[in-house]
This record gives sequence, C-alpha cells and structure tokens, in this order.
Amino acid sequence: MKDYYSILGLNDKASDEEIKKAYRKLSKKYHPDLNPNSKSAESNFKDVSEAYAILTGKQKPKNENPFGGNPFGGNPFGGNPFTRNVKPIKVRLTTSLEEIFNGSTKEIQYKAKEACFKCNGEGGHNPQTCNQCGGRGHIQQGQFMFVCNNCNGLGSIHKTTCYTCQGEGSILRNKKVNIKIPKGVTEGTVIRYPKIGDFNKGTYGDVYFYIEVKPHKIFTMDGLNLKRDLEVPIIDILLGSEKEFETLSGLVKIKIPKLSDLDKTFRLKAKGFHDEQTNIIGDMYVKLKPQVPKKLTPEEENKLKELKLQPNFNI
Ligand SMILES: [Zn+2]
Ligand SMILES: [Zn+2]
Repeated sequence: MKDYYSILGLNDKASDEEIKKAYRKLSKKYHPDLNPNSKSAESNFKDVSEAYAILTGKQKPKNENPFGGNPFGGNPFGGNPFTRNVKPIKVRLTTSLEEIFNGSTKEIQYKAKEACFKCNGEGGHNPQTCNQCGGRGHIQQGQFMFVCNNCNGLGSIHKTTCYTCQGEGSILRNKKVNIKIPKGVTEGTVIRYPKIGDFNKGTYGDVYFYIEVKPHKIFTMDGLNLKRDLEVPIIDILLGSEKEFETLSGLVKIKIPKLSDLDKTFRLKAKGFHDEQTNIIGDMYVKLKPQVPKKLTPEEENKLKELKLQPNFNI
C-alpha cells in the first residue's frame, strides 16, 4: 500500500480541506496539458489523482478529472465518516486497447459482503438492553467516558446469534456491476464506485477498480500515443513502396520513400487515443521492421554480389 498522504505532501492527520488543497495544487503542477511529453509529470499526476481518490470520498473537481465520466463521484454529500470506516475492496479491471480506444462498458464480477438477510445485518436476534451500561453504550467514570466493552457501544446485545451469518451480520456474495471505461484511460488509473463494497455495521464501503491494460499482439499504448511495428521487406525500403496496415481506427496507407532509414518511424497525427475529458488526441507511431529474405538462390546471391560492386552500394 502506498503512502497516499506523503504523495500529497501531507501527514496522516490532514483534514479533508488540506487534502483537497494539496490535490488542487499538485494536480495543476503535474497536469499532462501543462507538461507535454514529461513521463515523470505523467506518473506524478497519476499518483496524486489516485491518492486523492483514495483519501477522500468526494467527487473529483470537474474539469480537473482527466479520466472522464463520473468515475470518482457518486457521493454528493462528501466524506461520510462511517463509509470511510469500511475498508474498500480493490478489484483489478483488465481492459483491452480497443476498449480504451472506443470507450466501453464492462460487466465486472467481484465478491463482497452483503447484509445478512436473516438478521438484517445485525448478527443476531432478540436484542436485549445491555446490563453493563444500561443501554447507553458508554460508561461514565468521573469526567471520563468509556465505550461499553460488553456491547461495543451498541447499548444492546443479542440473546441469540444469527445462525445464517454466524454473528458476522454479513455474507460473502458474488456481485456484478457495469463499469464505464472512459476513452483514453491509462494503466494504473483508479475508478471509485461508492457504496457497492463490503457491508459492515449498517453501511457499505466502496470498491476501487484498478485499470490494467491487456497486452495487444500488434499495438502498444504510450500515454495517449499508439505504437506499432510494421514488417516491410528490405527491398521495399530500398526501392520505396506503399504499405497498407491496421490501426485501431481502420486501415491506413503510408508511402515509404525510396532509401528510407531501415529503422524509420512514421508519425500519423491524431491516430492515437482520445482523452474525452481534456479533448487531447494522441498520435500513432509506426516503426519499420525490415525483413531480410530467409534464403537466397544461387542466382539471387550472384545478383547481390554484382550489386555490391556498384558505386552506391560500395559505401
Ligand atoms: Zn453496554
Ligand atoms: Zn445474520
């Protein structure tokens, strides 16, 4: 577990207000729009966003959320202290480059504790007033007040323990939820869904979905840029040619100029990922991967030997 407070430059006693202030300052400082092409700013920005999402139950301020949609929101009343007491569930959300490119909704399964239907989440039946604290839940001694250790501050204890949940008040169940994957979302992003997590003492916790990007057999994602290699016979690079190939938005044709560098990279503007929130569109980078023949006939070999003696090949 990362130290989310120190990411925001705070100690663990920081108030919601201080967390918000630190987040505003740092997210501005590291925002991708203001730090184009900076890997360290990008990763700091992600850390700061994650720390903010995790330390607060609040929606991220509008226009500062580069991941789009309403993934961190849902709790308009802010940090409910009880909600925050229930440990959040962390769920991996594995997604494909196609889903990130087009934006999508995915059904995700996870396990969470649900309120026991038999005892309504109370863990037992026939509540009786606690005889140690007289139902107050606390005990006064002089000027000090203690939580009653007999009833844990509830003021009552159950005469019979619930058989269905063994007194836990909750039962582990399989759950399903549809998660919106915002366009252009990157690996490591945390999407928070409030109150669909574990049940504990009358309230439900949150679920944090961690975006994981599945490796693709052709493409890779680098920020909002899309990258791929393009296998081209070496003769087509020497003589120049036109090649058609796949992108995530369909087929595209490029012209390889005669005598191009063998490791030349072509940049296709705005063929990368579209970040809905910032409206930034990445580019596509296509790197040549020259293919050498697997074998030569004696005739081919002789031709290459002749070629080698020609002035432009004798370099
Ligand atoms: Zn008591
Ligand atoms: Zn029960």
